[in-house]
Amino acid sequence: MSENKIPYKIYLSEDEMPMAWYNLRADMQNKPAPLLNPGTGQPMTAQELEGVFCTELVRQELDNDTAYFQIPAEIRDFYKMYRPSPLVRAYCLEQKLGTPAKIYYKFEGNNTSGSHKLNSAIAQAYYAKLQGLQGVTTETGAGQWGTALSMACGYLGLDCRVFMVKCSYEQKPFRREVMRVYGSSVTPSPSESTQVGRKILSQFPGTTGSLGCAISEAVETAVANPGYRYVLGSVLNQVLLHQSIIGLEAKTALDKYGVKPDIIIGCAGGGSNLGGLIAPFMGQKLRGEADYRIIAVEPESCPSFTRGKYAYDFCDTGMVCPLAKMYTLGSSFMPAADHAGGLRFHGMSSVLSQLYADGYMEARAVKQTDVFEAAEEFARVEGILPAPESSHAIRAAIDEAVKCREAGEAKTILFGLTGTGYFDLVAYERFHNGEMKNFSPSDEDIAKSLAQLPAVPNALA
Ligand SMILES: *Cc1c(COP(=O)(O)O)cnc(C)c1O
Repeated sequence: MSENKIPYKIYLSEDEMPMAWYNLRADMQNKPAPLLNPGTGQPMTAQELEGVFCTELVRQELDNDTAYFQIPAEIRDFYKMYRPSPLVRAYCLEQKLGTPAKIYYKFEGNNTSGSHKLNSAIAQAYYAKLQGLQGVTTETGAGQWGTALSMACGYLGLDCRVFMVKCSYEQKPFRREVMRVYGSSVTPSPSESTQVGRKILSQFPGTTGSLGCAISEAVETAVANPGYRYVLGSVLNQVLLHQSIIGLEAKTALDKYGVKPDIIIGCAGGGSNLGGLIAPFMGQKLRGEADYRIIAVEPESCPSFTRGKYAYDFCDTGMVCPLAKMYTLGSSFMPAADHAGGLRFHGMSSVLSQLYADGYMEARAVKQTDVFEAAEEFARVEGILPAPESSHAIRAAIDEAVKCREAGEAKTILFGLTGTGYFDLVAYERFHNGEMKNFSPSDEDIAKSLAQLPAVPNALA
């Protein structure tokens, strides 16, 4: 009975693609903490945010109450190029593991950018275009977000300027060229082209950059150029909203076959794919209609959930962005050069952080070499070369399936396979050559960057 009350079904179209995104915040009793103005310590107003972000996206960012946002027809048309994305039963993996568990994965790598990031890129580019802007700026780590945004901007005829974390720019020249295919300009970060880039370069000469630092450069460039706004590929509430399409489609397909997952697993960088995948399931959990075990998987080298602190912090190294309350390792934390570039962010979505603090989900950190082992095990039986980021979820899914084998339990596991690893073959090469190292920051390293958390008014902390 309660199944029939799930309102998104009303919106489902004939092509089985949702007509609306689902805003998980609407069902949260403890809402995620508001973004704060770093200057005044007060919640950011819409007007303040509109200097950096598109107007409609600011509205989505600040709306904690509207459960459904209709997906504009133009965005749905774009989605139809690669959605609904496949929900696959991993029969061969189950067989190889000899597990009674049923394993399903939702595959988001079926587009040129090779990841789920296109789901939000097209939405953000669309609203920028609608507002009559000339272009957008952004950062990219491993390159997936930059590629996704380049595709979206190329499609809509918007200018796109990408600041790419320097180590990725050098490690992944092919990613850079794909972005240029779609007409974007790509600058290695930190760069000499912004004030904040010059400052970081003088403080940390020879740094290979970080996502936080590239964000600072992209924001500065957007604010300094009329007709430009900044867009972000993860962390923000609006990005989780757009990514809810992953979970809505997955739930639709599972419902159709009468399957209810027991465990839902996703890798967590800034939290957008996980937030999107779990959205409708977590909604049920929050409304008391169903229960699921939800597991976030992060790299041991950048353990925001498992070793970070729940506190207000800057989203960027340059300390120009608003403060967000999240599990953080400190905005000055420089993660080791782990190959899962998309997970090298010091913080975590405020929505997921609040849910984790309230005990609605679990988190675990995994070692890089264990991740690549799982990636290969998966690649050999499931016919997809997974991205290193996605392989964090594979690792946990395999571990849970093996536990089921040992306990003789036939649980159903759903995990998010966020993308493909064709641009990550240098990482696979290191793994094969036995050159891959595991990094785990020391307690002192983490304490040192946490000591620099910004002070905020007591009432809000
Ligand atoms: C960016 C990325 C991630 C991590 O980002 P989230 O915002 O945490 O989802 C995971 N997988 C892939 C393939 C990515 O490109």
